[in-house]
Amino acid sequence: AGTLYLVPTPIGNLADISERALATLQSVAAIAAEDTRHTRQLLNHYGIQAQVFALHDHNERQQAQGLIARLQQGDNLALVSDAGTPLISDPGYFIVSQCRAMGVKVVPLPGPCAVTTALSGAGLATDRFCFEGFVAAKPQQRRKQLNALVDEPRTLVFYESPHRILASLTDFIECFGGDRQCVLARELTKQFETFLSGSLSSVAEQVQADSNQQRGEMVLMLAGATPAKAHDSLPPEAQQLLQRLLAELP
Ligand code: SAM
Repeated sequence: AGTLYLVPTPIGNLADISERALATLQSVAAIAAEDTRHTRQLLNHYGIQAQVFALHDHNERQQAQGLIARLQQGDNLALVSDAGTPLISDPGYFIVSQCRAMGVKVVPLPGPCAVTTALSGAGLATDRFCFEGFVAAKPQQRRKQLNALVDEPRTLVFYESPHRILASLTDFIECFGGDRQCVLARELTKQFETFLSGSLSSVAEQVQADSNQQRGEMVLMLAGATPAKAHDSLPPEAQQLLQRLLAELP
């Protein structure tokens, strides 16, 4: 039986493709691509001739059966998205879950991914983090998404569209408070790569003041909540009493 290879592609710098990714794309019987035109351009750049067919959110389910049949007949196939790692806010989940269920071999290659690239360079805690995917586009859903994360102690990582960054930052401030530390990583691996960091209020001000900061691809990261001390939630009289008692302690 064949293998389905998941092949990451660059997120902005064409030199970031791995040797193994190129060798895999070169050797497979066909490549399933989110956007065939985009992928053909990429393959042309590396001088790879391959059969490419479309596999995106809208046809993944229809394509799955044929693709799995092909793998079972012995073809090796590769899955790529437009940029970065397949399945990370990109198509492929249904195919991979079906392959796993049917016992078809799946081999993921490591490679470019905006989440890990942004996080590793942000200067926020990286020991534990929560990847939230895209910030919800509609204001009501966005506030619901953010409100559910207010007490999350792990570093939060979001994908965001440049068109919504200002509106989103306003909601982030409303929800998490303007003092929460954040980092906005923009245009990673590209010519105008920038990291803006500071409090949510100061980052929002910088983005507001400079329209260049409202362009390109971006990852928004937020420090996790610092756990409230248990006695912060006591009523004021109890806190005063506690203070007096604490003062009496040796
Ligand atoms: N599969 C991709 C990955 O592994 O990162 C992500 C695909 S998702 C459809 C696209 C989003 O990823 C963008 O809207 C942006 O939030 C983020 N992204 C992709 N490339 C980026 C880059 N070079 N700099 C900053 N963010 C990027």
